[in-house]
Amino acid sequence: MRVPARMTAMVCEAPGAPLVRRDLDVPRPGAGEVLLAVLACGVCRTDLHLVDGELPDPRLPVVPGHEIVATVAAAGPGVAGLAVGQRVGVPWLGWTCGACRYCRSGRENLCERARFTGYTRDGGYAEFAVADSRFCFALPGGLDAVHAAPLLCAGLIGYRSYRMAGEGVERLGLYGFGAAAHILCQIAAREGKRVFAFTRAGDEAGQAFALRLGAAWAGDSTQAPPEALDAAIIFAPVGALVPAALRAVAPGGTVVCGGIHMSEIPAFPYAILWQERTLRSVANLTRADGEELLERAASLGVRTEVQAFPLAAANEALAALRSGALRGAAVLEVTRGEARP
Ligand SMILES: [Zn+2]
Ligand SMILES: [Zn+2]
Repeated sequence: MRVPARMTAMVCEAPGAPLVRRDLDVPRPGAGEVLLAVLACGVCRTDLHLVDGELPDPRLPVVPGHEIVATVAAAGPGVAGLAVGQRVGVPWLGWTCGACRYCRSGRENLCERARFTGYTRDGGYAEFAVADSRFCFALPGGLDAVHAAPLLCAGLIGYRSYRMAGEGVERLGLYGFGAAAHILCQIAAREGKRVFAFTRAGDEAGQAFALRLGAAWAGDSTQAPPEALDAAIIFAPVGALVPAALRAVAPGGTVVCGGIHMSEIPAFPYAILWQERTLRSVANLTRADGEELLERAASLGVRTEVQAFPLAAANEALAALRSGALRGAAVLEVTRGEARP
């Protein structure tokens, strides 16, 4: 494809302020990197935390976006296994050192020098992006770019949280029924789990959405579930849900915090943690998680529900996510050239 010299990007220049539309040079891929023509980029709650200044040490200015579906437009020297014209997905984990104790022990998600797409590397809120070719996923066919995008973080972090919830879970609680939960609910229900979905109090539309996607029960996060849970995953960035979820899980149960940021967790009595309940977080992803999730989402026929916005409307997409009004996931759809004034 013909690569232009300039591109439109939505840029985070200062946390606390809206993204700014900029005309930038199209980046050049270095050794081992590919230039990607972005087709779609999912809007993740982490992007909202970045824009709101809730994440430490962002590299500014930065182009957010870490759920990229794109076509390989050009390859830098030394790229193996990817061809120009191929469709790929790019996740949050953008680069790892390969040498630290975490990288050497199958835990590259905790790499001490990791770089993250749309946070410490430029991401996909742009017409073009550069990615390390080793961190691009081949995407299953059958899903268009806009519907595939939410799998790359919401799907993936949800899936890692699901794995960390442990083996043998029959009754799984999901707190916060947004992009991640709407994907994971389908996977868990199709694997025979009974899913209990917790939404903001009074969000009847969200509860109906959860039931439609296979949840066995849906209610307010202030409610106790009708039976004790084996595990619960908290996707909403609300610290008060931690004691609520600990109270909802049976002895031996696990509570997983799936987000990168959460408001302060209120003090709680030891009794709700005792009896071998486990409280843990999930950070980032490994490439193995990504391959497993993409394969499983395809084989189980997971369908994402998306609300598409043009690239230039990234601030509106973030506002929709913030308001809680979205069903499923917000995705920026990139129409090259047309995004330009
Ligand atoms: Zn490392
Ligand atoms: Zn994300």
